[in-house]
Formats: sequence, structure tokens, C-alpha cells
Amino acid sequence: MCGITAFRGPSAATRAHEALARLEYRGYDSAGIAARRSDGTAVHVRTLSGVAALVMGLERDPDATTAAIGHTRWATHGGVSERNAHPLEDCGGRLYVVHNGIIENADVLRERLRSAGHRLATDVDTEVVVHLLEEAVSVGLDLGRALADTAALMEGSWAVVVLDTRTGALAGTAHGSPLILADTGDGVYLASDVGAVAPFVSAFRVLEDDDVVDIDAEGTRWHRAGGSRRPRGLWPVPAISLLASSGRHTDHMGNEIDEQPIVARRVLDALSPGIRDGALWNRLGLPPLENVDRVAVLGCGTSLHAGRALAGVFARAGHLPTRALTASEAGHEVWEPRTLVVAMSQSGETADVLRALDGLPSGHATVLALTNNTASSLARRADAVIDCLAGPEIGVAATKTFVAQVLTGACVALSGLWSSPRADAATLEADFTALAGTPDALSGALHAWRDRAAELAGDLVTASGFLFLGRGAGLVYAAEGALKLKELSYRWAEPHAAGELKHGPLALVDAGTPVFVVDDGDPRLDVDIAEVQARAGRVIRVGERSLRVGGLELQLPRRGPSWGPLESVIPLQLFARELALRLERNVDKPRNLAKSVTVA
Ligand code: GLU
Repeated sequence: MCGITAFRGPSAATRAHEALARLEYRGYDSAGIAARRSDGTAVHVRTLSGVAALVMGLERDPDATTAAIGHTRWATHGGVSERNAHPLEDCGGRLYVVHNGIIENADVLRERLRSAGHRLATDVDTEVVVHLLEEAVSVGLDLGRALADTAALMEGSWAVVVLDTRTGALAGTAHGSPLILADTGDGVYLASDVGAVAPFVSAFRVLEDDDVVDIDAEGTRWHRAGGSRRPRGLWPVPAISLLASSGRHTDHMGNEIDEQPIVARRVLDALSPGIRDGALWNRLGLPPLENVDRVAVLGCGTSLHAGRALAGVFARAGHLPTRALTASEAGHEVWEPRTLVVAMSQSGETADVLRALDGLPSGHATVLALTNNTASSLARRADAVIDCLAGPEIGVAATKTFVAQVLTGACVALSGLWSSPRADAATLEADFTALAGTPDALSGALHAWRDRAAELAGDLVTASGFLFLGRGAGLVYAAEGALKLKELSYRWAEPHAAGELKHGPLALVDAGTPVFVVDDGDPRLDVDIAEVQARAGRVIRVGERSLRVGGLELQLPRRGPSWGPLESVIPLQLFARELALRLERNVDKPRNLAKSVTVA
């Protein structure tokens, strides 16, 4: 979602701009850049029309700029307008600030600043930061000190970078929102995500909460939260962060759906050798499952769905009590000792997940992070980290990261269960066989459904609402299908346990109402389907019970694997995309949504 980039060095505005363009895919409301020209004048451009449009405002020789900051905003306070776009400036037009996060005490600070004579020109919480900095700089503090003093007055979460256009200095700090620093040799980047700078550097440092860095002509100075001046350690840029999907579609989402069998193969090649001897589990340093009484998965949106599928493995194959928790609600939970918490987040920066972990009673739980970013805040916070190996996902609506998270989670769980007395040996053996067949099952579903999904979308383009039903292990895939449809088509889509139909949702079914049923082989689904058909609803059954491989029709076992019918997500993703394309939606950037949700 919101993104920060900054550069101090030659061609600063160009460098900050190209880094900003690398974050653009995540979705945003407005974008802006402020820079200092070598002649000491300031450039300040903001737009609602996309990062590319900023170039027009930078036209007066952006290469002659020496320091610059850039931002893509996902508005939390104050409407989406050019006036409210970052960078925001102080009264004197000297300091400019970009901010990700929320300043929770902005109203109080705003009043204080107004009575001190500041002119606040926007409705944005962030604006108080730049005026507080103005006060601190006006009494002679250097930029880093001014930022530290300002941050001490703020409540909430932030990654903040300030540019002083008089001196060309930059300073940055973070608190509950990511910020990294990377040195190129000829200059220094600050960015909210390593993806912004991945092609330009090989290593980076992460600002821990309340660290301050300042960067000026004399170099980079680090002020750690505890007082130390030592820079934080170097992290290598993960090679996989450069591996974007490509393919025959003009949208990223189409290519990312197609790539899922390859992603599945990558996960299995990397992880399955460590399952049958428990090596994967042990390598992660996780406690033996005899010492774990329950598993809680924690996540939001699609990651939470992947977590539910993973919880199914611990429950069905390991007979372990499991809970799946919506991260934003986890503060209301009562935590029990000997809990293994699996925290799921594609970006590893999901603020709701990080906040939920902050609420865990200390010493109660081991935290395993399952993420697509092993250098993320979540990865650093967890006791153990597993990379879901999906590679960069550009479409805002998650597809290949879902499949990667389910399979990575299943591999880890099976590895832990392999030597556990709790585990059911026959289920484990069946799961292991099913795991090996997953890439083919996903390819089979892609072939079987590509044209069918397009046809179906043509038929259903005027439908105003959709139901998604499942039972047991299939239910989570029904939920994921409904979420994808909402995200992409902006149509109402409700997932329900099929057995609940008669307790309410059946009232929604009318002649032609589309009802997707994820078939995991549960015979009771036939009754649910009959109930819909009796009201002339249109049933679309997904979750093939047979599979075509090389001209052969294979019957899949009635009882699917512990994580459920993963391949059933493919027709649901394909249908959501096809319907959205017919409705002329932007499938890569659904309205109001953004990737990497760094506000809680
Ligand atoms: N709260 C700030 C705003 O509404 C920053 C939002 C963001 O993280 O992009 O502008």
C-alpha cells in the first residue's frame, strides 16, 4: 500500500522516482515527490494520476537534484486529493515529510500547533509531523535530533522521512512501520520496502523501532533507540524479490494464476526432502509437538484462509486442537500456554498481524512466521521463519501466494507430525502422496477450467450476488473464492458452511442465483445442492474428483488431503478474474484495496 522512497546522491529525484515506481503496483490514492535542486531550490510535485505522471512536474532537470523523497499514499485521514498528498510541507516551504502509518494524537498536536501560529493546510494526520519538525529545527536542532524529539511527541505508528531543502539533509525514523536504508556507494536510499531498491543494491539495513538515521554531506549517522551509534546489521537482498511472473496475459494477476503449478513445484522441491525425517521442523528450531498443546494461526484476508487450510493439517493429521484467528480481533483472545502461533502474512508487514503478536503474553507461545518476505518485520519478530517461496506477487489480490502459503504450511506441519506420537500414520502417508501430486492437480484444474470460467463469466455477468458453499476442508476454499470475487468484481459474494444454508442464506436463492459449491467429496453436499436446485438456483460445482493427466482420466480419492481441495481455488480465481475483466475492472489494482497493509 503506502510507500516511501528517498535518495541522497546524484540524480536524486530520478532515483527516488524509479524506486517509487517499483512500489506502484500495490495500489495507492496519490503520489508525490519533493526534491532539492543543486542550486538550493525545491521541487514539489503531487498527483492523483499515477507515479508516471510525476515526471511532468520533475521536468526541470531532475538529474540536477541532490536529495529527494517520494510517497504513494493510502489515505487514512483526510480525503484523497492533491492537497492532502504527501510530501507535506511546513509553513516556510523548507521541510518536506513523507509518512506511512497513523498519528493517533494528531488532533491534540494540531490544536497545539495552531495556537503556536502554524498554518495547517491539509486534513492529514501527517501534517503535524512537519510542523513539529519546523519548531524543532527553528530552535537550532540538527535534523536527526529534531526528528527524534518530534517522534517522542507522537503516538501511533509511523515510518517518516524528512527532507531539508535548505541543506539537502534527509532523516528517517520508524515505529511500528517498516523503513530500510541501503547504500549504493554513490548515495543512500531509504525505503519502506526492500522491493523498491532491490535492483540497485545488494544489501540493506533495517531501522528498528525508534532508531533515527540522518544523512547529509558528511555521511550517514545512526542513532539506535537505546543510544548506541552503531548501524544495524546488513541483510542481503533476497534474490527471489527480483523474480516477477511473466506470461501471456497483459495483467499480472492472469500470469500469477498461471504460475501456480510452478510455484507449487518450487515449494515441494525445496521442502519435501525435509518432511519424512522431521528435518524441516527441526531446522526451524520448533518445539517437538509433544510440547505443543494447540496451534493458533493468525492472519488477515487470503493469508488467514491459507492459515485455516494449514490448521486443518494439524487438526486432521495430528489431532491437535487448532484455532484460526483474525489478526485484528486477536486482542480479544485468551491465550493458553504451550501454543504454537503460526503468523501468516504475504508481505510480513501486515500491521494487524504485528499488533496481534505484540498482544501475546510473553513466554506463552512460540511464533512461526510464514511469509513471502524473510527480511520483514514479521520475520524479525518471530522465533522461526519459513519463506513461502512465491516470488514477487504484483496483483493486489493474492493468488500464487495463497497456494504457496498452503503448501509451505502443509510441508512444515507434516514434517513436525512425522515423528509425533499424535499423528495418524495413514493420514500422513496419504497427505504425503497428495502433496507430491499437487503441481499436476493445479495444472489439471487450469486446463479444465480456463475456457469454462470464461464462458461462465459471460453467462453470469449480470448476476448481482453469489453464494459460495463448502463443508469441512472445502469451506476455506469457498471463503477464498468469495473473497476473490468481491475484491475483483465488486459484486456481493457470501461464503457459508453448506449445512448453514437452511438456517438463513437459502432465502437469498432465487431462480438463477449463482451458487458455487466446493466439492471435497463430502456426500452431504448432494443434499445441500438439491436444496439450491429445488429453488432453481444455478449450482456450479468445483473441486474435480477426477483428473486428466496425459490423456488418462484419474479418479482422485474421495477423501482429499488434510489441507483440503487446494486445486479448487483455481476455477474460483479464474472466474473472479474473467468476471472482473468483463466488468472492465482493473484486476491488478482493485478499487480501495492495496497490497502490504501496513496500517492496523
Ligand atoms: N495517515 C497518513 C495519510 O492519511 C499516511 C497514510 C499512508 O500510510 O499512506 O495520509
